[in-house]
Amino acid sequence: MIEVNQLNHSFFIGKKNKRQEVPVLKQINLTIDEGEIVSVVGRSGSGKSTLLNLLSGYIKPTSGEVSIKGEEVTHFSEAQWADFRAAHLGFIFQSFQLIPSMTAYQNVELPLVMNGMAEKERQQAVEAMFQRVNLHGYEAHYPSELSGGQQQRVSVARALIMNPPIILADEPTGSLDMETEQELLTFIKQLNQEENITFVIITHDEVVASIADRTIHLEDGHIVNGEEEASHEV
Ligand code: ADP
Ligand code: MG
Repeated sequence: MIEVNQLNHSFFIGKKNKRQEVPVLKQINLTIDEGEIVSVVGRSGSGKSTLLNLLSGYIKPTSGEVSIKGEEVTHFSEAQWADFRAAHLGFIFQSFQLIPSMTAYQNVELPLVMNGMAEKERQQAVEAMFQRVNLHGYEAHYPSELSGGQQQRVSVARALIMNPPIILADEPTGSLDMETEQELLTFIKQLNQEENITFVIITHDEVVASIADRTIHLEDGHIVNGEEEASHEV
């Protein structure tokens, strides 16, 4: 499903004549199979978000390759990435990343609008999604009029609305209390089991790691728990 080969990434900081290389990810090899829930743990600054941004094309690696669903995505243009993300990837973030000037309904509808779906179809899909994430009745609320747990459910609805086979989540429970965290984890597990959605979940949290089939530990830019490409056959 996701195949990472010899991935290296450095950031460059400082002025042009004093540019300094900061290596963040080093020789990352990783295979994630369809239907897996993989958690990524590691202390702050260990490169977790950078890895997710590389998997979603928001940054390009210094070297190495990423394939997703059999497609070599590393050299995609911005436009190719936009199409690929729309078709294959859903995103959930700690800070929800909802658009504050749009209602919950409009936030969930937005990917469908961008994808050119007709209004009637959109309405059906969005209404069904609000039922599914248990937010029926909150469609007209703005993000600021919702609790953290509700906002996260809106963002999950937005992530799911295009039926992505893969969901990438960066600290999805980081802003939630224990009860809403447990609800979200139960829902993730259900989506995984019933729809075979593959999840890659960055977390600090052992409770989150505990729902994963596998946990990847990042330390100093390396995967340290023996996750080698040799341990998987494609
Ligand atoms: P994590 O998500 O594990 O906390 P990140 O992937 O966000 O870690 O960051 C890893 C390292 O890369 C950190 O040292 C961070 O300061 C650095 N870094 C992240 N993004 C940038 C950037 N855009 N420019 C320069 N350095 C960055
Ligand atoms: Mg991070």
